[in-house]
Amino acid sequence: MKADTTTDFLIIGAGFSGLVMAERLSAAGWKCVVVDRRSHLGGNAYDRKSDVGVLVHPYGPHYFRSNSPRIVDYLSAFTEWHEVNYTIKSYTRGRHWSFPINLNTFEEYLGRPASTEEFTSWLEQTRIPIADPQNSEEVIISQVGRELYELFFEGYTLKQWKLHPRELDASVCGRIPIRTNRDDRYLSESFQALPKHGYTAMFETMLNASPGVELHLGVDFQEARSRWNHQHLIFTGAIDEFYDRRFGALPYRSLRFEQESFSAEQLRGREAISGKPGFWQPSMQVNYPDAEVPFTRIVEMKHATGQQIDASTIVREFPKDWSAGAEPFYPVPTPDARAAYQQYSALAAAEPNTTFSGRLATYRYYNMDQVTGMAIAEADKLISRYGSKS
Ligand code: FAD
Ligand code: UDP
Repeated sequence: MKADTTTDFLIIGAGFSGLVMAERLSAAGWKCVVVDRRSHLGGNAYDRKSDVGVLVHPYGPHYFRSNSPRIVDYLSAFTEWHEVNYTIKSYTRGRHWSFPINLNTFEEYLGRPASTEEFTSWLEQTRIPIADPQNSEEVIISQVGRELYELFFEGYTLKQWKLHPRELDASVCGRIPIRTNRDDRYLSESFQALPKHGYTAMFETMLNASPGVELHLGVDFQEARSRWNHQHLIFTGAIDEFYDRRFGALPYRSLRFEQESFSAEQLRGREAISGKPGFWQPSMQVNYPDAEVPFTRIVEMKHATGQQIDASTIVREFPKDWSAGAEPFYPVPTPDARAAYQQYSALAAAEPNTTFSGRLATYRYYNMDQVTGMAIAEADKLISRYGSKS
């Protein structure tokens, strides 16, 4: 196909990475064409209403959190926030547990009240001393010992990654906090909130504020490359796909999501489990570490969004193997995968007019605030290289 138009920047992917870079470059006066092969913007952070009008995260729960006031300030130009204390539970041995592990979990384990002092000294005796944990098994057993590790982490991780925690970087399970007080929040970052009207609405506001940005959905990289002449390419998809997997495919983990909705009528009687009317389960997320259960977690986002609606929708998350054509939801954080990525990143570093940014293009298990920070930094580099047009 002959190129039918021109743009300064051609951006592949309309997730956090692509849209933040487009916004920054547009603010500097540059024209950007953003394409995505999906039929919607937002990448994996996209949210929408379910069949019964409940705001859901169809690609898995996206809990915004950050320790960076700079990143929060940047996004705050495009959204107000709904503050949330993200709390979850784990379901095993036939009951719900407070999770991540905290003093309440310890009391549930003992079946009686306990103090922080008692829990701390129990951990001292139970944990396996490892000075510098090298993998996800070591990072947990060095904090809580084998029994709690096996109860909450081993089965979940095997299911999620089809790898033993021993094979995964310490950072994977290490991102889950362990506390000896009663703080049962899932996350520890200083800022924890959802965009008040959702991620999709936030991205729409961002685009409306960016007159230089054109968005084309349902368009993939190959088509885009032939349609738009461009000065510079920004690629936020999978780096091995960009290079036609010439060194072999990088490993990814994929997921299948199953949504189920309940009317107010169908939720009646469910309070015995959820603890409050209008909800299906007791918290926004329940993790299922047991091997017999085929999914890893069930998310009921209404707990977090605070949406006032009688119905509810849950999403079950089933891990699955990745093969070409499936969505590469997670890069796999192992030393071998990182080494394989280095071959591609060496090629990427030598590209004169292409920038690789985002979770898939840099093969990093990054959160939304981290990819936002990366996108701002990459856009700044481009603005110092090409200058501003405005
Ligand atoms: P993506 O969101 O993956 O966007 C890339 C876009 O590029 C996609 O829309 C894709 O369709 C498009 N694309 C790729 N290749 C091509 C191509 N060849 N042609 C055209 N388009 C292409 N982060 C948090 O901070 N908190 C959370 O709670 C959280 N939970 C998560 C849960 C799950 C299940 C997953 C998978 C991720 C989670 N994340 C979370 C991470 C978060 O999704 C990412 O940090 C963020 O979405 C990355 O943005 P991105 O733009 O780099 O990539
Ligand atoms: N994890 C676990 N048990 C849990 C929750 C998490 O073993 O109940 C491990 C698992 O390996 C998971 C990792 O910790 O992949 C990170 O969990 P998180 O909930 O942050 O994963 P994400 O939301 O990125 O899928």
